[in-house]
Amino acid sequence: AEYLDRLRRAEPRVRSFLHVSDAAMREAEDVDRRVERGEEVGPLAGVLVGVKDNICTADMPSTGGSRILEGYRPAFDATAVRRLREAGAIVIGKTNLDEFGMGSTTERSGFQVTTNPWDSSRVPGGSSGGSAAAVSSRQCVASLGSDTGGSVRQPASFCGVVGLKPTYGRVSRFGLMAYASSLDVIGCFGSSVVDAAIILSAIAGHDRLDATSSKHEVPDYASLLVSLDFLDSKPLKGLKIGVIQETLGDGVDGGVISSVRSAASHLEQLGALVTEVSLPSFSLGLPAYYILASSEASSNLSRYDGVRYGKQAAAEELSFLYGDSRANGLGHEVKMRILMGTYALSAGYYDAYYKRAQQVRTLVKKNFNEALNEHDILITPGAPSAAYKIGEKTEDPLAMYAGDIMTVNVNLAGLPALVVPCGFVEGGAAGLPVGLQLIGSPFSEEKLLRVGHIFE
Ligand code: GLN
Repeated sequence: AEYLDRLRRAEPRVRSFLHVSDAAMREAEDVDRRVERGEEVGPLAGVLVGVKDNICTADMPSTGGSRILEGYRPAFDATAVRRLREAGAIVIGKTNLDEFGMGSTTERSGFQVTTNPWDSSRVPGGSSGGSAAAVSSRQCVASLGSDTGGSVRQPASFCGVVGLKPTYGRVSRFGLMAYASSLDVIGCFGSSVVDAAIILSAIAGHDRLDATSSKHEVPDYASLLVSLDFLDSKPLKGLKIGVIQETLGDGVDGGVISSVRSAASHLEQLGALVTEVSLPSFSLGLPAYYILASSEASSNLSRYDGVRYGKQAAAEELSFLYGDSRANGLGHEVKMRILMGTYALSAGYYDAYYKRAQQVRTLVKKNFNEALNEHDILITPGAPSAAYKIGEKTEDPLAMYAGDIMTVNVNLAGLPALVVPCGFVEGGAAGLPVGLQLIGSPFSEEKLLRVGHIFE
């Protein structure tokens, strides 16, 4: 009831949700009565979750933040949503995002701009800005987001919440609107590491509807957290942590650097061996990511033709019907990405752009492998700065893209990463949160959560 009350009160200011379900509100109010009656309820009974609007829900609209899907209602739940519901969670509504996940602020949503709960003149980050803001303002307990190049981790940093991007394949993508299929993963937000761990256990695991989902066993992540022995003064003894050198240099806010450095020394005091490590390909990841993500998007988004889903333009001739539906329904950023991707894939430029970007991707993977052979966990800031002002980067797409430098490499390599709040910099009324990113080897979510747990 407290969450529902806060959801209603905060929504006019934060605008995290594109849709709030009245039926879910009633269901949430009913759960306490069911428990009192002694009814059998699932492990997540009554837990209110928000779901990013590019993840399909059968009982609510799913727009992906795009006008082209206005009014679209899928016939099915995404596997991650179905699993949450089977565990008893209540999907309270659909959260705002940059159109189809393309953006870093939620300013590229086709519907509304979400504000940062710490300071309403600032962005919550993106593209899962609505999901991060909803958890940060305690409108719901946890939420789902998607992370193609940082869309869970960067908004988690900006909003001061926990954000988890699982290993590629850890969570089924069935029912997630495809942006760049080789990079996309569904991730989650919580106000604590324990909450994120509980959600991950519910949604992870093989799914026959997604051939890239992994058969790797799903541990009970939350129960593993209690085994950390805090009575021992050096609970991290033996753990090797590498601070990625390239992430604490030029272009990174001084306050962010000092928060991350003090987090590193905290880990050292707890017994971890902390050293600096260089990832020479780090800065190459950004251009490679934008070429690959746009290329995949240009193909994935061809399905929005005004015939199969969503809003149709009123044209009689078929080619105009396609053209007008897309021209009116898709936003500027999305069109730019489609053009960029089509260009990179075109016969004359394929070798110079797409192929070269794939080579960089292989190099990034190799560099990460080497670093993770020597270290258990790598750390970086979750973003190069704290949340910036609404409108500050809308005129300069390259500046906005550059802000993804901390996160995109992890997607190129398919690795898991966790962002936990680790400090504040000046700004807003109460300071602005800074996030620490912990990166691990494939399927090492358990280790990331255990170390992240130390920061709460
Ligand atoms: N900001 C990045 C982009 O626009 C990442 C988005 C995402 O992870 N969905 O592509």
